[in-house]
Amino acid sequence: MIDVAIVGGGPVGACAAALLARSGALKVVVLEPHAGTAPAHGSALDARVVALSRASEHTLRHAGAWPGIEGARLAPYERMRIWHEGIAPLSEAALVFDAADVGEPNLGYILENRLLQGALLDAARAAGARIEATPLLGLRAGADSVELTHGAGTLSARLVLGADGARSQVRQLAGLSADTTDYHQLAIVATVATGRPHEHTAWQRFMRAGTLAFLPLADGTSSIVWSADEGLAQDLLAQTTPRFEASLGRAADGALGSMELRSERQSFALSRMAARRYVCERVALLGDAAHVVHPLAGQGVNLGLLDAAALSELVLAAVARREDPGAMGVLRAYERWRKSEVVLMSAAIDAFDRFLAHGTGPLSWAARRGMGWVGRSQELRRFFIRRALGMSGEMPLASRRA
Ligand SMILES: Cc1cc2nc3c(=O)[nH]c(=O)nc-3n(C[C@H](O)[C@H](O)[C@H](O)COP(=O)(O)OP(=O)(O)OC[C@H]3O[C@@H](n4cnc5c(N)ncnc54)[C@H](O)[C@@H]3O)c2cc1C
Repeated sequence: MIDVAIVGGGPVGACAAALLARSGALKVVVLEPHAGTAPAHGSALDARVVALSRASEHTLRHAGAWPGIEGARLAPYERMRIWHEGIAPLSEAALVFDAADVGEPNLGYILENRLLQGALLDAARAAGARIEATPLLGLRAGADSVELTHGAGTLSARLVLGADGARSQVRQLAGLSADTTDYHQLAIVATVATGRPHEHTAWQRFMRAGTLAFLPLADGTSSIVWSADEGLAQDLLAQTTPRFEASLGRAADGALGSMELRSERQSFALSRMAARRYVCERVALLGDAAHVVHPLAGQGVNLGLLDAAALSELVLAAVARREDPGAMGVLRAYERWRKSEVVLMSAAIDAFDRFLAHGTGPLSWAARRGMGWVGRSQELRRFFIRRALGMSGEMPLASRRA
């Protein structure tokens, strides 16, 4: 019998595998049909990137994945510049969060999804986890173990972690229900070269028709995430390259000068999802399998890595006490810990989208005024920077500075 079977070797499942296997106390298997490898040295940067918080950096260090991530492809960003349609991007009224305000060298890092996943899977393998390139097909939970059917046979485990993304099979097979809200928006993702240097800054503009972010990449280009209402997004996707570049330059309000598209445009339908329960008998959900948030705050992976760190800490503590790692008490403690934090973050991100990006009326007006107040108060700025760094709330040990 396996101790822990993890379904899904995306960043969150692979991180949980590495943290659990490194203890040397548990037999860990990961089912992942699309186990990517880290990009080859010197190859072009991928358009799909994520912004990682400081808490995620610590978690990746504890998981043994940081050496595989550090290097020329990793882009630290030092500040964020946020503004809305009513003001100019470089004006005093724009909100600037600077790492120097809290004595940090940077606010986090931008890196490619496949670099993150590849380095975490390598760390999990190096720690002794077995990666099976096969999908989960069936799940039957019993009092002492869970039987999994996968593409290459069956296995039984004392604990099953569902880290298989937004359309989680584990969630469905275990009968864990979820509430989903469609944003009726698409996120357009692409790499662009900009006329002005990005200055290691993440730029973000809130507009009535959506949010546009420029994430600074290591080679001087930027990755855009343009979340727009479905109709506008379809128009933007259908535009010729020169027309799209012109639309992008206008939407950025000239902040970064001219735009030159350097990759295909990819699009992702956006929704918000929250599983009502994260756990049931010998099963726990992590990452996007448990909760999906709007990408405007760049928090999805960061929340998921905190799930992986929290759950690993509780499971390893139970093992150290010679208790069952799949005991309901352990799983309930995980759910209590993570669900309360995720619910707050998800609601805050949703409010940003409603009132700063899409809203009209008094609440939107207040939200825009609120940006000004935050910008003028050093204490409020520091509060938000600490939240962006992920260094607040009840942090798992693996997510704290070593
Ligand atoms: C446009 C966009 C921009 C984003 N930007 C950011 C950002 O800047 N910062 C941030 O923190 N987050 C960001 N996110 C969110 C982030 O991408 C997700 O939160 C993150 O990928 C979730 O990781 P995960 O491991 O939980 O799930 P996934 O990455 O979805 O991985 C799930 C894995 O499970 C596997 N799987 C699926 N079904 C099965 C099965 N039946 N059996 C076995 N394996 C299975 C899949 O192959 C996959 O590898 C962004 C999202 C979008 C759409």
